[in-house]
Amino acid sequence: MPRVAPPESFRRIAHSIMNPLPSDDPAAALDRVRVVLCRTSHPGNVGAAARAMKTMGLSRLYLVQPLCAVDAVATARAAGADDVLAAAVVCDSLVEALTGCVHAAALSARPRDLGPAAAGVREAVPSLLRMAAAGDVALVFGNETSGLANEELQRCQQAVAIPSDPRFASLNLGAAVQVLAYELRMAAYGGLPPTTPATPFASAPATLDEIERFHEHLERVLVATGFHDPARPRRLLPKLRRLFGRAALEKDEINILRGILDSVETPTGPRRRSAEPPEK
Ligand code: SAH
Repeated sequence: MPRVAPPESFRRIAHSIMNPLPSDDPAAALDRVRVVLCRTSHPGNVGAAARAMKTMGLSRLYLVQPLCAVDAVATARAAGADDVLAAAVVCDSLVEALTGCVHAAALSARPRDLGPAAAGVREAVPSLLRMAAAGDVALVFGNETSGLANEELQRCQQAVAIPSDPRFASLNLGAAVQVLAYELRMAAYGGLPPTTPATPFASAPATLDEIERFHEHLERVLVATGFHDPARPRRLLPKLRRLFGRAALEKDEINILRGILDSVETPTGPRRRSAEPPEK
């Protein structure tokens, strides 16, 4: 007999129907995203960017004319994303960092004259991912103090802003990288957390017929105890169905519930402690 899909699978299938992935292979699309940091001054920000990237499955860091060394401060802030730092490509120019890319997006809080058209991050991300399905896509970030130079901005096909408070619009560089990496990952994976392994105590999901038998048993017991009067049912049974429906019952849990109902139908009285092994 085919197994009933667990609720998590239902959720995933339903979600993917409602939100088709922009790419068939989200990990591969994220792998084609280059984070390009222009003229970065603080090694801590390079490290923070590497950490922000790795937490979201991005790995390709480019440093254009860095004004700082990738030193122990950078490594400390990378907090384990040393591999991203070690693989960082240092370039003499933005043009060099963009070689081979099919698209570049400039990250800028401020709209610029003659710059490319600007969009908000969430608006921009789906098309960035679609392009990343076809080739490398660059996210270009500016210097901590001066931001991106106009010439750097004009090398990009679009400008992307993190919609912050206009009275205090500028994020820390590492934080800006984190927001972009997060939004890309959420869009790539349809906003779902990765599948987590089942807890050690979880058993297989109960089948619908096992659940049905449990409800029949419950009704029998509730009638026998007088809690439920079939002549005046009110809405007790549908409410109980809704309650247990939310619980995504497993086989073990059905067994426990059926055991409890058995014990109500045929009480044995308190168990004699001496006959049992001591509690741990
Ligand atoms: N003082 C600079 C900002 C530097 S912040 C300025 O006014 O431009 C360093 C970089 O982080 C910026 O160049 C940009 O690439 C990115 N960044 C920070 N805040 C941002 C925001 N709200 N939207 C888009 N990018 C942002």
